[in-house]
Amino acid sequence: MRYFSTRGETPPMAFTDAVLTGLAPDGGLLLPDHIPDVRDRLAAWRSLGYVQLAQELIALFVDDIPRSTLDDIIRRAYATFDHPEIAPLVPVGGVSVMELFHGPTLAFKDVALQFLGRLFEYVLRQRGEHLNILGATSGDTGSAAIAGVRGLADIDIFIMYPAGRVSELQELQMTTVLDPNVHCLSVSGSFDDCQNLMKTLFGDLPFKSSYHLGAVNSVNWARVLAQVVYYAWASLRFDSDVPVRFAVPTGNFGNVFAGYVARRMGLPVGDLVVATNENDILSVFFNSGAYARGPVRFTITPAMDIQVASNFERYLFYRLGEDPAALRAFMRQFAETGAASVEGGAGGDFVATAVNVAETSATISAVYAESGYVVDPHTAVGLAAARRLPYAGPTVCLATAHPAKFPEAVDAAVGAPVARHERLERLRGLPARSTPVPASLQAIRDFIETHAARR
Ligand SMILES: *Cc1c(COP(=O)(O)O)cnc(C)c1O
Repeated sequence: MRYFSTRGETPPMAFTDAVLTGLAPDGGLLLPDHIPDVRDRLAAWRSLGYVQLAQELIALFVDDIPRSTLDDIIRRAYATFDHPEIAPLVPVGGVSVMELFHGPTLAFKDVALQFLGRLFEYVLRQRGEHLNILGATSGDTGSAAIAGVRGLADIDIFIMYPAGRVSELQELQMTTVLDPNVHCLSVSGSFDDCQNLMKTLFGDLPFKSSYHLGAVNSVNWARVLAQVVYYAWASLRFDSDVPVRFAVPTGNFGNVFAGYVARRMGLPVGDLVVATNENDILSVFFNSGAYARGPVRFTITPAMDIQVASNFERYLFYRLGEDPAALRAFMRQFAETGAASVEGGAGGDFVATAVNVAETSATISAVYAESGYVVDPHTAVGLAAARRLPYAGPTVCLATAHPAKFPEAVDAAVGAPVARHERLERLRGLPARSTPVPASLQAIRDFIETHAARR
């Protein structure tokens, strides 16, 4: 299996190279040269546990890691989860909620990053290389990335976050990790400042290569691949003539794109509901075919406060007939004008709807009143979308975070302190380590130079 770039200007590469590459040098995203058809395996796959299923499915996309090593990486990645089923399905009202938050940081990003961290460890050791991961976070991604690589020998991780602008618990989830390879930088500036610093450092090619800088952002193919597994797992739990619908709280489109891959593999995946918050560029696109950037709006679902979804390009590639030239033209027009559209409309691969803050809160409160089940705001966006759109078969709503990660919004919606998790409560009072730095390129560069183990 080789991986090629959606923009068509990067030579195809093996899986392990794709893992280390992340974004392709031509600016495109990597995709496998074919998507395996698994329809003749479904009967056998129904009897597998989550980890076994992950091992069978992921192996179809990886041919440059020995099978026993890959199996071991996957087994260790999910041994960190606190539920035996990894992604349990819980009946709530008329739907099933798939809890994807049983990993170390209580967010669905753990499903991908626990796998990616161990993959990096293996590939770097094979090659005798060291990697310095640099990231900027406004909350969830930073802690999940840190949890994925803490304690690993050949990786240092540097995470910048805006001082005073991430929640207390989110900051503690990062700063209480005391492994020597973890470096938290509390930047006196905004999240945008952090992101700009990161982009500038990645753009400084001599610096990037002498310090072997890497990223763990959501365009990494291995993250998408790990997420395909739970669509397969959930879709095989039902015995229904109508394939299973999934409602997916969507930000960067990585999660719901994994559902699209699962469906192309021949798994019984039906409607894929792209549920956005008021940052509705994707919802507008799937309802009209017009893709136009707007201003970012801040909501109670911060992980979805995104206008331009980085993984959307992967789907566009297929929608535009797997034609890299057409894709390049679309992206060029979008970059230049902030808008582009697809001839023939968005197609029928996804259904989409946008849910505002008031509806999100009302859904948290209604679900609690009806079933006593507490959902986080992101999950509530998906539930609200599923309730709005009709479907004839079973529905799975993806729960992307534990409600205790967003206690203010959840408690306010329910009117009682219901969003707690013992693991988060215990963080208060633990020793923490973080370095305050000004929002200056020189300061960040100096810090990395001092702390990074040079290649
Ligand atoms: C990252 C995240 C999302 C969005 O997922 P994408 O793959 O970016 O679409 C939704 N909910 C939570 C809690 C997240 O952390």
